Amino acid sequence: KTPVPSDLEVAQSQTPKNVELLAREVDLLPEEVDLYGKKKAKVSLDVLKRLQGQKDGKYIVVTGITPTPLGEGKSTTTIGLVQALGAALKKNVFACVRQPSQGPTFGIKGGAAGGGYSQVIPMEEFNLHLTGDIHAITAANNLLAAQIEARMFHESTQKDEDLYRRLVPDNKGKRAFSKIQIKRLQKIGITKTDPNELTPEEINRFVRLDIDPATITWQRVLDTNDRFLRKITVGQGPLEKGHTRECQFDIAVASEIMAILALTTGLQDMRERLGQMVVGTSKAGVPVTADDLGVSGALTVLMKDAIRPNLMQTLEGTPVFVHAGPFANIAHGNSSIIADKIALKLVGENGFVVTEAGFGADIGMEKFFNIKCRASGLIPNAVVLVATVRALKMHGGGPTVTAGVPLPKAYVEENLELLEKGCANLRKQIENANKFGVPVVVAINSFVTDTPAEVELVKSFAKQNGAYDAVICSHWAKGGQGAADLASAVEAATSQPSNFKFLYDVKSSIEEKIETICKEIYGADGIEILPLAQEQINRYKNQGFNDLPICMAKTHLSLSHDPTKKGEPKGFVVPIREVRASIGAGFIYPLLGTVSTVFVMLLFIGQGCPDLCTFPPEVL
Ligand code: ADP
Repeated sequence: KTPVPSDLEVAQSQTPKNVELLAREVDLLPEEVDLYGKKKAKVSLDVLKRLQGQKDGKYIVVTGITPTPLGEGKSTTTIGLVQALGAALKKNVFACVRQPSQGPTFGIKGGAAGGGYSQVIPMEEFNLHLTGDIHAITAANNLLAAQIEARMFHESTQKDEDLYRRLVPDNKGKRAFSKIQIKRLQKIGITKTDPNELTPEEINRFVRLDIDPATITWQRVLDTNDRFLRKITVGQGPLEKGHTRECQFDIAVASEIMAILALTTGLQDMRERLGQMVVGTSKAGVPVTADDLGVSGALTVLMKDAIRPNLMQTLEGTPVFVHAGPFANIAHGNSSIIADKIALKLVGENGFVVTEAGFGADIGMEKFFNIKCRASGLIPNAVVLVATVRALKMHGGGPTVTAGVPLPKAYVEENLELLEKGCANLRKQIENANKFGVPVVVAINSFVTDTPAEVELVKSFAKQNGAYDAVICSHWAKGGQGAADLASAVEAATSQPSNFKFLYDVKSSIEEKIETICKEIYGADGIEILPLAQEQINRYKNQGFNDLPICMAKTHLSLSHDPTKKGEPKGFVVPIREVRASIGAGFIYPLLGTVSTVFVMLLFIGQGCPDLCTFPPEVL
């Protein structure tokens, strides 16, 4: 029996220090901090300008073996490691983690503040509204959705002249195009800048986006598991004159706007990215963007506070940035570049920033390197790869588990045979990290049921199979001091020169990039691009979108595209079913495998189960 109380009991037993004091401790100036009560604050991007001459700290990414329902403890290890680096090694440190979605929080997964004595507090504020960033994304996303509908309606019911007056209004006798409208005019081949000079034919071309409703990919979003919104019909009110359309709700964190928040480097960059988001195509096949709809300025205003990272703390008072939070299977699954950049400046040359990538190393870490580091230009110094004995046993062929039923014997008693077999998954994930030229430290997150022989087996296996080091840690039970050895190993790893390199050249063809990830990272024999996917790839190439990184939409439960294949699957060919593009976020995302509808389903509201809410009732 474990002496560690529940996550909530531990979290509530500690009173966080006033966030004003925390901000002073990390050398933020009062004018750079906006307090949201006493426990959380938003931090201004001006810090980057003030500290531009400062050298960055060491940059560490936490990832894991392929996830299992048994949980690996990546968030717990991220927090345990910063607590150890801060308290035991007396380093300047920051953790950068993702803001959880209310979908999983009220669904099967529960919160994501870490666990045991390694958590971000206050945990209810962390897991729920925080400072409203997800709400801002929801508002911006849905404003754009509303604008699409309104534009199609007005174009079908109004004359060119009336539309023109609506788009370029007479403002006290002055009529002028906005900068965005001038860009659009240039895009359609009109060089005039005086609204009074356009010919009727030019007005016609300017005012009509002529969106093909069948091509609209932009959906409404909500951060609640409301399964009955997975398919809806809009436009049923009598005033909409029969303009009905079938569409759907997605979970808010899957919005492209969330991916933009995570990948942007500043307000101007965010505005440009928001404007470039493609919502569908015209009947002539031309991509229609948020800029075409004239809404990117409004979206930017809605997002102007969300762009600033949120300052919180661990149970031991270590600083944490909580910012952005897309899922790693359908989006790129990493916290924000802005938070990492500010943290790297604040900790200074001798400090450490520990950032977390979602799911296993084949997904979150691959996207961290190939998408996030490419966009940020930051050079990572070490990978921490979290593994547990229990999860490795499942990879070795251990039985499936059922929620609410005691764990099968294999997971609570010593079983070296299963464990050794499952280490194949660990070996492959270490190899994956090594392909990027960054040293890997394996963190064995120990559970009370692990035996000494089991943890020793994993430790020596990892060291013999490419890890720079492997360390047994007990930060869940003991807080920072339980990860002191891990912190020392990470410090040693980061003193190595980083030979960081990307896996693929972004200029190679979309097909080649997909193939490289499938073969090198998943261990596939090859790929099969299905006809629809090929058609879409050809279209994106023609539209000039070839040179973007790839964001695979793939199951997180296997290295392959088949969630039932555990361990290190071999001898498989990955079917590429569909390929989509997030032009504002800046990536192409292929949907993999015969189970692609499952991935798409994950985009939808309603995969969790609010009726089985695991969020502790004491909080509610
Ligand atoms: P991940 O980030 O990999 O999804 P988390 O860090 O969120 O995993 O942990 C999931 C759950 O597992 C949390 O409730 C946490 O308290 C629990 N947990 C993590 N590590 C341990 C451990 N060593 N022993 C017992 N429970 C743990």
